[in-house]
Amino acid sequence: MKVHFITPQGYCYGVVRAMRIAKQVGDSSPDPVYGLGQMVHNRHMIEELAEHHVTTIDGPHRLEILNQVESGTVIFTAHGVSPQVRARASEKGLRVIDATCPDVTRTHELVKRLAQEGYQIVYIGKHGHPEPEGAMGNAPGQVHLVETIAEVDILDLPEGKKAVTTQTTMSLWDTQEIVERLKQRYPDIEVYNEICTATQDRQTAAVEQARLCDVVIVVGDERSSNTNRLVDAVRERAQKPAYRIDNATEINLAWLQGAKVVGVTSGASTKTQITREVVKFIQSLPDEL
Ligand code: SF4
Repeated sequence: MKVHFITPQGYCYGVVRAMRIAKQVGDSSPDPVYGLGQMVHNRHMIEELAEHHVTTIDGPHRLEILNQVESGTVIFTAHGVSPQVRARASEKGLRVIDATCPDVTRTHELVKRLAQEGYQIVYIGKHGHPEPEGAMGNAPGQVHLVETIAEVDILDLPEGKKAVTTQTTMSLWDTQEIVERLKQRYPDIEVYNEICTATQDRQTAAVEQARLCDVVIVVGDERSSNTNRLVDAVRERAQKPAYRIDNATEINLAWLQGAKVVGVTSGASTKTQITREVVKFIQSLPDEL
């Protein structure tokens, strides 16, 4: 069966950087090394880190999981952490290595600056995801997390200056719709789009190139925000069926029935090797199922 390999896709520079830092630290430290949360949201990458002596400790909140570390080194993940987590790690006397993606750091700086200037900040992001947790911690009480238009409708922002910014891995199109609603409610709101270039490029490519395909397979972890947004983008914007899989064994052949061209893309934290195996598997199938 024919595969259209959607490009760009796969690793972004923030993931490559975080993995390189974590492996170097794991390989060179005599003391225990802990990843504070999943370094990137992909279980294959976490397994790879374990081979480099990095133990991942995970949980819903960074401060809570930090309580499990008493000594050694902690590595902050690509998603970034709040200043409260930094302060707690330093109080505990831990060695800290920061693998926060520079694009996430830029959003933290923006939130800090806006908060100092007295803005109320709306942050478009995913509930329960570590990136909003870290960003919001830069201005407690001044940042309001919204994920949907319905949440915009129940916002009750006080008088004064207002701004909106975003998690780096949101959907371009959903974010645009949420921003439009915010502008209807608060016409003077300032807009700072912080969706990173890697996410924007991958989403745009997936939607444009999905039009050349009958169905699209997105390879990535169920917890990866950018992976899930690729699935949404193909379904909603290109109107093509799209399915997320962790690896080739999860492909359901019923999805490919009647398809002539299968698009393949992958999240920013997906191992290239796993995507290659998926491509190989689909290519090994007969032209028509
Ligand atoms: S998806 Fe964007 S923000 Fe996240 S690690 Fe990659 S480059 Fe950085």
